[in-house]
Amino acid sequence: MTTSNKAILDPDRFPKPPFRQQPQQAPGLASEMDPPPDHGETSYRGHGRLTGRKALITGGDSGIGRAVAIAYAREGADVAINYLPEEESDAAEVIKLIEAEGRKAVAIPGDLRSEAFCQKLVNEAADKLGGLDILVNNAGRQQFNESIRTLSTEDFDATFKTNVYAPFWLTKAALAHLPRGAAIINTSSVQAFKPSDILLDYAQTKACNVAFTKALAKQLGPEGIRVNAVAPGPYWTPLQPSGGQPQEKVEQFGADAPLGRPPVNRLKSHRSMSLWLPMSAVLPPARCGVQTAVQAQCNASISVDMMAALRGHF
Ligand code: NAD
Ligand code: MG
Repeated sequence: MTTSNKAILDPDRFPKPPFRQQPQQAPGLASEMDPPPDHGETSYRGHGRLTGRKALITGGDSGIGRAVAIAYAREGADVAINYLPEEESDAAEVIKLIEAEGRKAVAIPGDLRSEAFCQKLVNEAADKLGGLDILVNNAGRQQFNESIRTLSTEDFDATFKTNVYAPFWLTKAALAHLPRGAAIINTSSVQAFKPSDILLDYAQTKACNVAFTKALAKQLGPEGIRVNAVAPGPYWTPLQPSGGQPQEKVEQFGADAPLGRPPVNRLKSHRSMSLWLPMSAVLPPARCGVQTAVQAQCNASISVDMMAALRGHF
């Protein structure tokens, strides 16, 4: 075995907890995280599977959205990303990475809790990209709260506006642009199925994302538009240290996973590429448009959940 192959197979080459406590104000920055998240910058190889496609990815500045933006650009797509204005520095890194692939990169900051902004975002993205055929509803708000007694209406409302209303508004606006063969991909969570006590509002919104995906898939399937969702388990992204989890949990993030560490984001884009892609080779054509697959929270169970998705159990 060559030295580089040995390095690739080494299960210990990724950072393991304990990590240092590192509180950030939401939405947080990837650039402030220690260890730095891996979005596939040096590992993802494209195969031209999205040549000529035009994608809008919300929350594309960091975390899962950044991993998807890099993967899409390397597959040949032009990519527009949305993020909050305070995340400009993270977004600038993603724009550079997309442009490095020779693809068009469009940055459109703004707050998705406004319906008017969601409409403007979609129209501007379609205008600047010269069309739109992939919408990735990925932006999300997760702020832990110990008790329903202390969870304010303002917090509840902000979580629902970001995670439930925005995908609804963005999808409505996108339908004016999406042609046959287009794809909508929503980011749910393992929290939809196994809610944590401290994520009462967030977990509900992620269950909403699943129902939204399944119902919308039935509406849009006859129009040739596929609707899918991924439901990730814990990933090391700014969402976690910026109020998504208590700092004691951030310190031990991923420690209870089988490998004793969190999965790296690039697994996200590698393993679930078939779902993020608009023309999945994995999902049986007869079920296209009604599949929701679960990206499990640890490597060991990914294949199990992928099989369940294939059999149409979701
Ligand atoms: P992240 O912090 O990198 O991404 C979330 C993004 O949401 C932010 O970058 C921000 O740009 C965007 N956002 C939040 N509020 C917004 C608003 N009002 N307007 C515009 N944009 C806003 O974290 P991530 O973990 O990559 O999260 C991406 C998605 O993945 C979210 O929907 C999250 O719920 C989901 N998810 C994450 C995990 C995980 O463990 N990290 C697990 C399951 C699901
Ligand atoms: Mg961010």
